[in-house]
Amino acid sequence: MNTFKKITPYIKQNLHKISFGILLLIIIDIVSLIIPKIMQYAIDGLETEGFTKLNLFYAGGAIFLIAALMAIMRYFWRFFILGTAWFVDRSVRQEYFEHLMSLSANFYNKIKTGDLMAYAINDLNAVRMLVGFGFVIGVDIFVLTAASLFFMVSIDLKLTLMAIIPLPLLSIMIVVLGKKIHHRFGKVQETFAVMSGKVQESISGIRVVKAFVQEESELEKISDSAYDYVKQNLSLVRIQGMFHPSFMLIIGLSMMIVMVFGGIATMTGEITIGQFIAFFQYLGMFVWPMIAIGWVVNLYQRGTASLKRLNKIFDEQPEIIDEESVEHSILKLKGKINFKQLTFRYNEETQLIFDNVSFSIDAGKTLAIVGRTGCGKSTIIDLITRIYNPPKESIFIDNKEIYKISLQTLRENIIMIPQDIFLFSDTIKENIILGKQDSSFEEIVQATKNAQVYNDIIDFPKGFETIVGERGVTLSGGQKQRIAIARALLTDPNVLILDDALSAVDTKTEQRILEQLIRLRAQKTTIIIAHRISSLQHADKIIVIDAAKIVEEGTHKELLEYNGIYKDLFEKQQLEEKISSTEHSDKRK
Ligand code: ATP
Ligand code: MG
Repeated sequence: MNTFKKITPYIKQNLHKISFGILLLIIIDIVSLIIPKIMQYAIDGLETEGFTKLNLFYAGGAIFLIAALMAIMRYFWRFFILGTAWFVDRSVRQEYFEHLMSLSANFYNKIKTGDLMAYAINDLNAVRMLVGFGFVIGVDIFVLTAASLFFMVSIDLKLTLMAIIPLPLLSIMIVVLGKKIHHRFGKVQETFAVMSGKVQESISGIRVVKAFVQEESELEKISDSAYDYVKQNLSLVRIQGMFHPSFMLIIGLSMMIVMVFGGIATMTGEITIGQFIAFFQYLGMFVWPMIAIGWVVNLYQRGTASLKRLNKIFDEQPEIIDEESVEHSILKLKGKINFKQLTFRYNEETQLIFDNVSFSIDAGKTLAIVGRTGCGKSTIIDLITRIYNPPKESIFIDNKEIYKISLQTLRENIIMIPQDIFLFSDTIKENIILGKQDSSFEEIVQATKNAQVYNDIIDFPKGFETIVGERGVTLSGGQKQRIAIARALLTDPNVLILDDALSAVDTKTEQRILEQLIRLRAQKTTIIIAHRISSLQHADKIIVIDAAKIVEEGTHKELLEYNGIYKDLFEKQQLEEKISSTEHSDKRK
């Protein structure tokens, strides 16, 4: 697998900028190599006749000019190379997020949000560092090493050979320690993901944590994983810490050799003092890339470990996609839905949710689904909207197999109000127009009136501009549900599904919303799931699910006559209502 497949296109895209940066770097490197030559000239000049103070000024001035030139160019290579690394970072981040958006609901059942966040923060950071500094040091290593070696050889070949004797030790260290760094860095990133995942979960579940007085135990969990993170980092630091000092030791060895043998060569007059000093300077330039190799290895190991983790996510294929057989000409759905002998389970290990279930609803009618909790009501909806894939040839919409309809058409025509409502930390208005951004204010007002939430909204000091969620007001469960209903009504879909969407509103409000629904959706398909039977009586058809089968099917009246689960439920609920209403009237007395 190509580890770099995600960044190469972006690097190619920015190659002109990177190349320019690299060109500047090469110039800097070459120019910096002139400085020792000038020093050599000046030092040897001191002993020559005719060498004046003016010559010294020239030499000093030249050194300063070169330094100034290097400073300017250094600024620009940073701009071109490190700046580009940020652009690459952004592009990969964007692609990562787009990819996450394309993945199916099931993927998110398998992976933790904390992990995904950690990849977006820590790993992308490591990739950016690799892209930016990888190039820079790469260039330095090639240019500086080659050029300084050239100048060293031009001064004295024997001395050069002696100076580089200890250097193969460096390569051995790099290979051995590099592998360990790669492994340990992978561990560091993993524990970071676990830790941030824990923090994320504790914070989003703060209400439950407080309700069950679990602050201490949550803290303990987080401090355990924070400790783990420290431990893994320390184990990385132990290896990294060995890198630099060992390099310096090896370099010291080289210095010692040059000092002794270079000194002797100067004494015997093989080389001049100026050459001796220049040689030292070149050795310094020669070893800097050697030190940098250590750093680059480090960056490379971190960067590739991170890229591998990111690639794993990039390699996840969305499970729910348009089939080849999809008919793109289907844009509107009338809303006739047929289930034909559908048998379904979520996966091999779990039990059957539906066993050979068939039912239908004509376009423009209202279907109600009743059944015990966990019997599969929401699953029906997830299959109709293809949050999960149903078996082939089992669901038909407008007499077309569901796989013939594009996901876009399906989701545009079928709007569902899910059981667990999610509102973004944005204004109420933005939350409502989610599915229809170009709504007029009148339309929004009308939708909220139909959903019986208008009065609640205008009671907030900022009305429709009120921010909900973490940064704003906390809405009640019933308010959230009604805002979600308004959001769905605004899109006026051909098929509307309410999955227990009225569970948190009182009976009277529920009744008013239902009246509006009946009026607004007279010609359109509506599917209602509810535990309260009183809210289902007007449906054209009611199905009762039990033990993976449809056990009863008919209108409210027919089902009451049937004397089964439905009637039983209905009578129980009526009794409950009666008891609670007499309790209320007792209290009033
Ligand atoms: P409720 O009235 O409580 O909302 P429901 O009738 O909507 O219940 P479903 O949510 O459809 O029930 O779930 C039916 C069964 O499928 C349950 O046993 C549930 O545990 C299981 N189930 C739901 N979603 C998944 C999933 N993604 N993977 C595996 N099993 C699942
Ligand atoms: Mg449900």
